[in-house]
Amino acid sequence: MNLEDFAQGNTLFKDVYFKKHEKELLELAHEGQSPKALFIGCSDSRVIPNVILQAKPGDLFVVRNVGNFVPPFKEDNDFHSTASAIEYAVSVLNVKDIIICGHSDCGAIKHIFMPASKLDSSFIHTTNWLKLAQRAKSMAMVSLGDDANTEDLLRTTEKLSIITQLDNLMTYPIVKERLDNETLHIHGWYYDVKSGNIDYYDPEVYKFLPLESKQV
Ligand SMILES: [Zn+2]
Repeated sequence: MNLEDFAQGNTLFKDVYFKKHEKELLELAHEGQSPKALFIGCSDSRVIPNVILQAKPGDLFVVRNVGNFVPPFKEDNDFHSTASAIEYAVSVLNVKDIIICGHSDCGAIKHIFMPASKLDSSFIHTTNWLKLAQRAKSMAMVSLGDDANTEDLLRTTEKLSIITQLDNLMTYPIVKERLDNETLHIHGWYYDVKSGNIDYYDPEVYKFLPLESKQV
């Protein structure tokens, strides 16, 4: 793929997809969006929310960042893009669901297991950002023990990170308020890049189970 292909892709989109769905797309353009869910996913190019869920324009409000992390709520004047997306989705768009979707083979999680000497000190923002997965890493190491193999450690950390990000999400006052009055629900999902399968976290049994089996 190069830039010319992307340009041709847009032409194709306008000529085929846009024309076919013109009525719904123009309705969204005129009336504005009212997405059902906020999807917090990884920036990884293989984890494309609308593709893996077959969602339509207008269905999902999306924020993607390295590792699908949610920083704990912090009341200051810094530039918090993920916090801003959460605030906007909940307070203004009134989404009913927030999905934090992690995935297998996540580069962010792989990175935190690299020896410190291999981390380039010029990656100041990434190094700092990845601290948001440290708790999951420690939990995985304690739960699997010293002789755990690398693959198990990575997969377990990826899943535990989703749970710790859900904990962070609950530090947002607006999220807590809507959870308490049951106008908002939060979900932890895990996407397998090798199979396309999604598992969801069931906090009642502390397990990830197939999303297909979830009763809705
Ligand atoms: Zn990732």
